[in-house]
Amino acid sequence: MSNYHIKHLEEYYQVYRKSIREPENFWEEIAEEHFIWRKKWDKVLEWDFKKPEVKWFQGAKLNITENCIDRHLATRGDKTAILFEPNNPDEAAEHITYLQLSERVNQFANVLKDHGIKKGDRVCIYVPMIPELAIATLACARIGAIHSVVFAGFSSTALSTRINDSDCKMVITSDGSYRGAKTIDLKGIVDEALESCPGVENVLVAKRINSDIDMKQGRDKWLQPLLDAASTKCEAEVMDAEDPLFILYTSGSTGLPKGMVHTTAGYMVYTAYTFKNAFQYKENDVYWCTADIGWITGHSYIVYGPLANGATTVLFEGVPSYPDFGRFWNIIEKHKVNQFYTAPTAIRALAKQGTGLVDIYDLSSLKVLGSVGEPINEEAWHWYNDNVGKKKSPIIDTWWQTETGGIMITPIPYVTPTKPTYATLPFIGIQPVLMDENGEELKGNQVDGRLCIKFPWPSIARTIWGNHERYKETYFSAYKNMYFTGDGALRDEVGYYRITGRVDDVIIVSGHNLGTAPIEDAINEHPAVAESAIVGFPHDIKGSALYGYVTLKDFGETRVHDNLRREINQIITEHIGPIAKLDKIQFSEGLPKTRSGKIMRRILRKISCNEMDNLGDTSTLLNPEVVQSIIDNRL
Ligand code: ATP
Ligand code: MG
Repeated sequence: MSNYHIKHLEEYYQVYRKSIREPENFWEEIAEEHFIWRKKWDKVLEWDFKKPEVKWFQGAKLNITENCIDRHLATRGDKTAILFEPNNPDEAAEHITYLQLSERVNQFANVLKDHGIKKGDRVCIYVPMIPELAIATLACARIGAIHSVVFAGFSSTALSTRINDSDCKMVITSDGSYRGAKTIDLKGIVDEALESCPGVENVLVAKRINSDIDMKQGRDKWLQPLLDAASTKCEAEVMDAEDPLFILYTSGSTGLPKGMVHTTAGYMVYTAYTFKNAFQYKENDVYWCTADIGWITGHSYIVYGPLANGATTVLFEGVPSYPDFGRFWNIIEKHKVNQFYTAPTAIRALAKQGTGLVDIYDLSSLKVLGSVGEPINEEAWHWYNDNVGKKKSPIIDTWWQTETGGIMITPIPYVTPTKPTYATLPFIGIQPVLMDENGEELKGNQVDGRLCIKFPWPSIARTIWGNHERYKETYFSAYKNMYFTGDGALRDEVGYYRITGRVDDVIIVSGHNLGTAPIEDAINEHPAVAESAIVGFPHDIKGSALYGYVTLKDFGETRVHDNLRREINQIITEHIGPIAKLDKIQFSEGLPKTRSGKIMRRILRKISCNEMDNLGDTSTLLNPEVVQSIIDNRL
């Protein structure tokens, strides 16, 4: 049991040092003691960032579903694996035990096989947050098919691009989905997408909203009758450690999404180990991550990480604002949630509502609060800490990426002292470095640079599907022998990391490199401000000047905007210095976001530079109407 569960800071440092000094021994021990294998590996690690190529646990044979499901049956058969909370609070929650999950995954796997799906085939899963989504994912893994989950909020074009990029043979979907008070015609979107996807042979349709939809003869089939007829036993396909488990496209914040390929053994080991420690999960805890399974956070920390630990994981179909903005707090009270993992965008949206709805629910079950996806600004951090955690649940600000597969920099709750806006310390086995523009490593503390990782960890993505060259170019060409994250970061006087924003978004003002996160953090301190985003635009003297887009908590804010502008610049001067003052401040009703809720600065940058006819890939954009209104009102 040794190294598996870290309980205090000294132990963290000890285990961390071991994981760096003897990475192979370290991960081998974890893999041996905490997972089941059909055959053990011949070699723990082989890597070469120049090629680039990374292989963990080569020669090992396993199936991840035997680790996530089968091995729990003897001791946890009746324990809830997935706790499904429907969109409508009046609909009963569903407790799916490990035994039931096993039966349902096996049935689904048999249906896939009956439709000709074999090991290595790609299956696109475009299903809302209902149990079938997790079950379909696991069913693919059971038979060695490579799943490509596409967030069921994407448009038909975004869907068809992803289906074609990875040549999916089958699409799994539902007749429709619920989203708050709305219903969405999911099958209609699939039909439209498939007009340009000749490779798709079958569509399996789960029934969720009972709508009257078109079923294309020979191609489309209702799922339930097939499942009912299928056996609850399905032998797991024996996979190689390095066989692909899934493809997942990045969020598209900075450009065209990349189909990241994750493989089996390393991904399993790392997501399980990080889940156990980053959330300090204890048997019988109820864990809830509000992400969608369509994002990496959902893959690693709703499905694989929790289930590999025999945990109870909540799967929520709805949205934070339905039937009102108290829904999250209501669910925490109802299911006595112990670990709660969400995103800064949700925290800011909820904070905007005040504390009235948080205070009426009993949140005393909470032990750990998590944040992921974007930098969490200080004001949001305090709101989360004070009103949700009641100052007793540590906040883990977890920095990681689709490419990294698992959490990379994070406090370990009750172990690492937290600090607002800091992701703090590298997780066990992770070796971050900061580089300067000339490719030199910045040693020591109190430095600010580009975040790279200099040694492989088990769940690093192995390639971009069908485009290894792009993988090499994007991650391994900027710095010699390093994985380049694309993010900027600073390391403070005690060695804590703070993510300062994406390197693409860095703005050079009069020769100074300014990251977006610290400036936005300062702006958000203004009591009237809900959210902000800054970008650069050309300036004769300074090279670039700063353009701020600001949304107010109360859109009907009556104060004179010019006064607000002065106050915002005053705050920036106090927190950062006059160099970071904004030349232009535009108040807008919203900010352009990806469908995973992240601010898309690249669109704002184009607008501020007057390049509206060239906004780049907008297929991942959540709110095009906001973009139009920002364009209409540009300064
Ligand atoms: P794309 O790569 O397609 O542009 P994306 O980077 O938004 O999209 P993801 O893999 O979902 O796609 O997001 C990873 C990025 O999110 C990180 O590189 C970082 O910029 C940001 N991020 C995630 N977690 C944090 C965090 N805790 N603090 C700061 N930034 C974070
Ligand atoms: Mg990225």
